[in-house]
Amino acid sequence: MRMDILTPAARSRYDTYVEHLRACPECPRGAGRCTMGAQLVRRYLEAIRRR
Ligand SMILES: [Zn+2]
Repeated sequence: MRMDILTPAARSRYDTYVEHLRACPECPRGAGRCTMGAQLVRRYLEAIRRR
């Protein structure tokens, strides 16, 4: 993950997602996500595409 190219909005959303992964027992890293996790990822990707 090249954090240096992320906009502040994208980075903030990525951090939010990572925080969710740490707290959520349903989101094993890289192997599927719960509904909340999927939504966070989608918002993060939207922030990236908006550059
Ligand atoms: Zn989750």
